[in-house]
Order: sequence, then structure tokens, then C-alpha cells
Amino acid sequence: MTVPAIEAARPQRCVIHVGGIVQGVGFRPFVYALATRLGLGGFICNRADGVIIEIEGAPSQLDSFLKEMDLHCPPAARIEQIQVARVPPRGEMAFSIGASDASMQPEERFFSPDVGTCDACLEELFDASDRRYRYPFINCSQCGPRFTIVRNAPYDRERTTMAAFAMCGPCRAEYDDPQNRRFHAQPIACSACGPKLAARDSEGRELVVDALLFFEELLLASRIIAVKGIGGYHLTCDASSETATRRLRDRKHREEKAFAVMVADIAAARRLCDISATEADLLSSARRPIVLLRRRADAPVAESVAPGNPLLGVMLPYSPLHHLLARSAGRPLVLTSGNRSDEPIAFEDGDALMRLKGIADGFLTHDRAIHLRCDDSVVRETSNAPALIRRSRGYAPEPLRLPAPCRPRVLALGGHIKNTFALGRGKHAFLSHHIGDLGEWEAYKSFRNAIGHYQALFAFEPEVIAHDLHPLYSTTEYARERASQPGVRLIGVQHHHAHMASCMAEHGLSGPAIGVTFDGTGYGSDGSLWGGEFLVGDYRKFHRAAHLRPIPLPGGERAIREPWRMAVACLLDCGEEPEKLRSSVRTEDIRIVRHMIEKRLHSPLTSSAGRLFDAVAALLGVRGDTTFEGQAAMELEWLAESSNAPDGYPFEIVDGADSRALLVDTRPLFKALVDAVPRGDRATIARRFHNTLAEIVDVVVGRLSDATGIEDVVLTGGVFQNALLLEMTRRKLETRGLAVYTHTRVPANDGGLAFGQLAVAAQAEDA
Ligand code: ZN
Ligand code: ZN
Ligand code: FE
Repeated sequence: MTVPAIEAARPQRCVIHVGGIVQGVGFRPFVYALATRLGLGGFICNRADGVIIEIEGAPSQLDSFLKEMDLHCPPAARIEQIQVARVPPRGEMAFSIGASDASMQPEERFFSPDVGTCDACLEELFDASDRRYRYPFINCSQCGPRFTIVRNAPYDRERTTMAAFAMCGPCRAEYDDPQNRRFHAQPIACSACGPKLAARDSEGRELVVDALLFFEELLLASRIIAVKGIGGYHLTCDASSETATRRLRDRKHREEKAFAVMVADIAAARRLCDISATEADLLSSARRPIVLLRRRADAPVAESVAPGNPLLGVMLPYSPLHHLLARSAGRPLVLTSGNRSDEPIAFEDGDALMRLKGIADGFLTHDRAIHLRCDDSVVRETSNAPALIRRSRGYAPEPLRLPAPCRPRVLALGGHIKNTFALGRGKHAFLSHHIGDLGEWEAYKSFRNAIGHYQALFAFEPEVIAHDLHPLYSTTEYARERASQPGVRLIGVQHHHAHMASCMAEHGLSGPAIGVTFDGTGYGSDGSLWGGEFLVGDYRKFHRAAHLRPIPLPGGERAIREPWRMAVACLLDCGEEPEKLRSSVRTEDIRIVRHMIEKRLHSPLTSSAGRLFDAVAALLGVRGDTTFEGQAAMELEWLAESSNAPDGYPFEIVDGADSRALLVDTRPLFKALVDAVPRGDRATIARRFHNTLAEIVDVVVGRLSDATGIEDVVLTGGVFQNALLLEMTRRKLETRGLAVYTHTRVPANDGGLAFGQLAVAAQAEDA
């Protein structure tokens, strides 16, 4: 017989501190509702470094409270830490929301990324009886613009671009009511008091028409419309119309690089692509990235949307305006950044009207200012986790954890292309939104402005500035300029060491590790161009343990845009006649490039793996000239996917000149390719080339691991965005019993460089 408990467990009281992104995301109303439901007493209030909850009740209910708070917190909240301390109970029975402590310690500032429209708001948007029916700027404390409208900290309406709008009575009542889901929703608005849509013609003149009808009319006429979104202007058109898509390509001077499309919902996305459960989650997550999906043969999109591409970038609507557009269109829409070729996305109205004039046949704009430009993020599912290719809207500036606390405050400037920068403070890294290719003046300006903005928001003055070693990068120039400020020291971080550190830091590895860093090119410690490197080391030090055989890059930058030049270089390198090149290149051009290489004119050596892909693509006649970065390698990957040839081509591993490094001799590979190309099937050859690279990595890493005893391997650099190469390599290395780490939350390409620079500088001996 069991003895019944004589007294119910006595109430207990706890003080809970929750740190992270818990302000501006509906956290307090959520906690209020949870505590009330569980019959607990106490209060919650915002504090400098998160929220403080005092809570009192039966121990079992307190346990449930903690569990549910962590499990079911609002989707946009990011809990970084929870600390619980017991205090004496006070007999408090009711729960309340206390006044905020407005003092914000700069050390603890966090900002929420922009959040896609939540289900509750979406329901109201299409509910004819709701007062915000079809209102394009509906939002609540759990969704809506955040980071792109913040002018300054702390995040309150008067310091956002919503300050220009005075709340009407009903909005104010919702804003002030702790039980309302719009309690303290800073961008709260309605058609009576909030931003309004406007339609403008191709000349930018405002039209007195229904803006959404205007959009529909232009769309049906295969016209191009510029639409002001959350982080900037998009150019949009009917993705099922070849006429419209071609027109957009011609006007935007974007020849072949794929456009992303937006559809109303998952069901519509499934008509375009085959979608896994993970991909469906990514598409419908509140972050709303562009997800690269395998396109269906019968997908109702025009060929020009993504020419020759087996993948399609798909996005679901992320703002109420986009929901309205997608539903009224009832067909896939092209949604591409509002710019001309490689310029940064337009986000200011005057600038957009000027720059997009001649491209757009009409403008759909509004009067809520965008304070910070922010491109869409791009993500792709890989065998172990979704991998970010571009980390921007919906992700930035969420903190990433550093493997060890950053002692000095570090600003890491990133690379020259796909630029992002990062701030490091304590255990957190704040990786910026996508800035772009700094070769463009507009992008460089945007880089400088964005650094100023982040420094002000996070109240951050760097003590260390980490930069790439390349002496000619504009980021390096910027670092030198800032070095004249008192108290600022520079730390140069080798490009591939940064890539390696970025992947290690993402997985919290402390090292040592073997870093396979395959990319386009980066400035090596010896002043030559690297890009096919095997590094061994940790954050503090590394050595180049092996690398691909260096080959001339005839014409430097030009050889990157014209892969046929690399093919000529590789053929000459292995003693073959470059005239064997199967392509439309003129003999005269080949002769000139041959001369450059033989006389070593403007032909720096590079060990780049990316350039090998270029050479093979050109040799195969897949692509001799490119219109965007990485195009040749991508097309080679698509071709290789259609073959399942198991074997590779020969290569040799020899001791290099400085005897510390192994050298991968690729000449046997190219000799074999020259033999194979005239007779062989192109897909088989492309596949066998991929197999060879995977085998090279496997054999070299195997040797390095045997020699050093290191079993952690990171695969990083832009070349590892190649899913086929990545998966084959991973399998081989795992079969050896090694632990393989690849990028998921930070891009493998140069978009992840700043994070790696930060991880290195945070632990540098002289830091
Ligand atoms: Zn909402
Ligand atoms: Zn209102
Ligand atoms: Fe790189």
C-alpha cells in the first residue's frame, strides 16, 4: 500500500534570465500566456541583456514552464542562454508584464533579423471581415520587418523607419495590451495609419490607380515591374512567359545566371520542383530564403528563367505585399534583385527610380523607408543538413557562436567577392548581410556604410581589424586606412586559413584539423595564388601540407572569365598542343595566350581547384567563356550528374620543392583527358573528372592523417558548393573513419570568409 502525499509540493520561486534575441519577437506576451496557462505567478520584463522572469508555483509546473519556454518559444526568438536561480517564494499568484529597464548594455545588444509573415497575420490578411483585410503591411510581434527598418538601438518604434507614422487609436490599443499579439509590435500599422502602396509609371510618375490591379495588368502584358520589398527593390515579371523573362534579361544585362521565382504556397512550389520534407520546411520557415530545388521536367516556367539549369531557386512570399502579389498573379513570378547586372540592390526610392528606369515598365512602391539594404538568402539541402549559399535577409544579424571567446573586439572585413563582414564580441560573431562584389564602386560604398551602421547599432569599436592578405583588395586598403585610428591593430589572415577556420568554428572544433580548401583563387602566404590547398593546423597556426600543381593563369582576371585560357595553360603544362582544344576559340587567340604563358607575361601561377574545373569545361566544349562567376564549374557538375561512371583518371602525388608540402601532379589527368575527349562521352568524362578530384582529396587527406594522427577534416571553399564533389568526397573520407565537417550555417564560398577571419583573429597570439 502506498502512502499518499500528505501535502502538495510547496510552491517555489525562481529568477530566470534569458539571453539572446528575445526582444522585438513577441517573447513577453508568449511568456505571459504560458505562465498564465500553467497557473504560475510572477512577472517578466525586458532588461539590458535579455529578459528577466520571476516565476512562482508548484515545482512540477515550473519544470513544465522551463521546458515549454525553450521548446515552443516564438519562431523568431533565438535563446542563447537560460540561467535559473532559486529565491524565496512571495506567495504571488498572478503573472504580469513589468516595465522595461531601458538601459541597454552595449555588450549585450542583439537584433532580430526580418521575419516572414506569420500564419495568424496571413489569416487576417485574407479575412474580409478583418480590419487589416488585404493591407500589404500587416505584421505583429512575431513577424514583419526588423533589421532592415532599425535606425538605432534599442529597437523601439521611434528608432525605426516606422517613426514617421503615428499610430491610430485601435493600433495604439493593441500595441499597449500585453494580451494582444501586437503588444509592442514596433512596426504595427493599419490602412488608417500606416504605410501605403503607390503605383508609378516607367518614368516614376505617381499614378492614381489601384496599385495591385496595376501590377496585375503589367504582369499579364509580359511587362517588368519593380517592387519595393523588405530589404530592397525586386524586379519581377511572369516567370511562365518567355517574352517577359527575355525582356528582363535583356534590360538587366543578365545573360544566363538563373533567376529565382516566387510562388504563393507549397502546393504551387510542388508543381515546379520535387520537394523533400526538409526543403518544404526551409521554404516555409519564417526566414523565407530562396531554396535551390530540383526542377520538374514539366515545371511551368520559361526556359530563360534558369537556362540549362537542373535546379530552380524558389521562394515563398515573405511579406504581406508578396503574398498579395503571388495570389493575384496565380502563376510563378520571377523575383530578382532590383539592379543592373552586378550592382548592389536598390533600396532607396529616388535611387531605385533612377537606376531601374529603362528596366521597369512600372513601379510598385510604398512610403515605409528601408534603412538597410538586404538581399534574399539562398540555401540548399545537402545530405547532412541545409547549407547556406548566401546568408542575408532572415539570418543576418543573428549571432553565431565562436569556439572560444573573442578577447579583443574584432572587426573582420571578409573578402573581395560575395563580401560580408563580421563583428566579434565575447562568444558571439555577428556576420553581416550580403554586401556583394566590392569591385563595384556602389558595393564598396555600401560596405563602408554598412560597417558604420553596424558599429553604431552594436555600439562597437574594434580593437583588432582582421583582413585578407591580398594587398590589392579594397578591404585591405580599408583596413590600412582604419589602422591610423588609435587603439586599432591589424591582423592579416591568409584566405584559405580563413576558409578553414570558418568551417572549424561553425562546428565548434578547437583543432588541429586538416582543411581541404578548394576555391577560385586567394592570395597565398608566399604571394602566389592559391586555391587547391590542404592545410594542417588550428586557429593560431597552419601549414600548407599539400596543394595542387600550380599552373599559369594567362591574363589573370581574364582567365577567370574565359575558361578556354585555362585549358590552353593546362594543355601546355602537360606537353600537349593547345590547338587540340575542342571549342570555337580562334587559333590566333590560342597563339597569343600560348605566347603569354611561354614568355610568362601576365600569367601568375595558381594552384586553384576552381580553375581546373574551368579548364576541363573548356576542353570538353561545355563552356569556353562565362557570363558569371562559377558558371563553367556548375555546368560541368550538371553534366557529370547524368553519368555514373565509377572510375577516375590518373594523377601523381610527389614531394614538393620545399619538401614540407606534397604536390598533386595533375599532368597525368590532363594527358588522359586529351586522349578521352575526341572519343568519349562528355558526361562520362565530366563524371570521371569529379571522381578524380574526390580521389585526390581522399588519398592526400589519408596520407596527412596517417602522418599527423589528425582525424578531423573540414571541406571548405567555393568549389565545395559542388554537391556531387562534396558528397563523393565526404563518403570516401568517412569510409576511412575520419570525421568530415562541411558548411551549413555559413557559406563555403567567400561569403563565409569574415567569420573565419574573426575566429583566427580572436585567438591570434598577438591579439
Ligand atoms: Zn504576424
Ligand atoms: Zn492603425
Ligand atoms: Fe575563397
